Amino acid sequence: MTDVIPTPPVPRVPVRGGGTFPVRRIYCVGRNFADHAREMGATAPASKAERGTPVFFMKPADAIVVDGDVAYPPGTQDLHHEVELVVALGQDAAAGELAVDDAQALVFGYAVGLDLTRRDLQAAAKAKGLPWDIAKGFDQSAPVSELVPAAELGALAPRTLSLDVNGQRRQQSALDQLIWDVPEILHELSKLYALRAGDLVFMGTPAGVAALQPGDECVARLDDVIELRCRIR
Ligand code: MN
Repeated sequence: MTDVIPTPPVPRVPVRGGGTFPVRRIYCVGRNFADHAREMGATAPASKAERGTPVFFMKPADAIVVDGDVAYPPGTQDLHHEVELVVALGQDAAAGELAVDDAQALVFGYAVGLDLTRRDLQAAAKAKGLPWDIAKGFDQSAPVSELVPAAELGALAPRTLSLDVNGQRRQQSALDQLIWDVPEILHELSKLYALRAGDLVFMGTPAGVAALQPGDECVARLDDVIELRCRIR
């Protein structure tokens, strides 16, 4: 059978060292840093035993922005930045639940990204118990850096995620502050979805989320190893 429209392009993220990573899905984790959960008015779990289950939502694959050029989105007066570690899966998970100990083997590499959020629409959705899609899954809502292969990065926990806007530090946290670490999140996601090569996971943001204005210049970093430069038009 012949396609009746041209095939839409597959979103791709450049990989350090060469090649590109085709994106299948974008999963996102909400409330994965205690300090951010508290600033949003939620209670943070006091211990691992009290974590419950993670908050998940999705963005469309074509929300990816790889050139750092983001147009201020329609429908909002309160666009917020959320700097996040991004995990890229290089292999399909086996059928069924993925064991925590088997999860790391699926990881191709890491990037830093911005989970751009229409905060006013999210607040309205929360107040009415409605879905977050229009607050989170809009066009150009997922700027990402190049992907760095996992072996180049080594252990994640000691690394620090940060975001500067117009040269001022807005967000900063060590990754050992994640409530759910990468293998734990992949394990939890596998209870709900079949994880596949090409999937990205935005791991959640630390405290300090705030508004962006047209003209703002963002620099997101994982230590001095990964950098994302992004401009709001
Ligand atoms: Mn987020």
